[in-house]
Amino acid sequence: MATPPRIGFIGLGIMGRPMAANLLRAGYPLQVHDLQRAAVQALAQLGARPAGSARNLASACDVVITMLPDSPDVEAVALGEQGVLACMRPGSLYIDMSSIAPATAIRLAEIGRARGIRVLDAPVSGGDVGAQNASLSIMVGGSQADFADALPILQSLGKKIVHCGASGAGQVVKVCNQILVGVTIAGVAEALTLGRKAGVESSTIVQVLGAGLARCGVLENRGAQMVDHDFTPGFRSRLHAKDLRNALVSGDCYGVPLRATALVHDMFEGLVQSGRGELDHTSLLALVEELAGLPSSRSGSHP
Ligand code: NAD
Repeated sequence: MATPPRIGFIGLGIMGRPMAANLLRAGYPLQVHDLQRAAVQALAQLGARPAGSARNLASACDVVITMLPDSPDVEAVALGEQGVLACMRPGSLYIDMSSIAPATAIRLAEIGRARGIRVLDAPVSGGDVGAQNASLSIMVGGSQADFADALPILQSLGKKIVHCGASGAGQVVKVCNQILVGVTIAGVAEALTLGRKAGVESSTIVQVLGAGLARCGVLENRGAQMVDHDFTPGFRSRLHAKDLRNALVSGDCYGVPLRATALVHDMFEGLVQSGRGELDHTSLLALVEELAGLPSSRSGSHP
């Protein structure tokens, strides 16, 4: 059997940590890096090697994966003299799995190409549970040949792995995903709040709507959590605000008015400004309840 590629993984947060663990489980030699020492130590205990810096990691690995919050974080790690793209050997593969602006992904791919580095954008959906179970959906932008090379690695992280098109296409699909999820969370939050204020149990609404055309992933996977007002992240509100900001920038770029997205983006920014940026994105419910003059309460309570 061919020697497995040496993989470097940067960004060991809610998503990156279990993803890196899955790569170790699949037998890849793994170096890791994060600004948080505790996150690095957790992976070292599973058998990964702490790299100390992005530069060390990039020069020692055949494949580098990043899973960072936003475009500026990826640029900080990938670009510049100490950056991953400057330190990787020509011919090696850089896969950015963070959710960032499509325009940034296209720019990274161009800079990589000029240095002989093959670059893929490969953002994911499926949340922390998908990261833990290696059942993520992965949407990939870049060349077909690079996609084919990356596929065995991506198969250790996810189930539905789709080549969406040229560089940036993976991020475009991710932005579309975040529009749908964000607008749906806002819809569910408003439906539950209206029901609650009118004296109908939230659990009843989730149960009934889940059986008709209104059924959706948000109701199915997050409905019970919303009924319980359990806003443990999950997916942090500040990251969803960021994704919708990236959606709006993309809308401007391609001349597509995204009015519903703009409204929901404002709601997520409101959450962040009210100090709830670290809570799960379903905490949008708390904001809608406040606007309706309801105290945030636990399951089963009436206004
Ligand atoms: P997180 O905030 O939990 O983790 C980010 C990690 O990156 C942190 O450990 C942080 O210390 C590290 N980091 C930041 N800047 C760094 C740098 N310069 N060098 C090294 N490490 C650095 O975020 P997350 O929830 O794991 O999300 C990561 C990405 O995945 C985001 O783009 C997010 O939008 C996307 N995503 C998250 C989810 C989810 O459910 N959490 C689902 C799909 C996609």
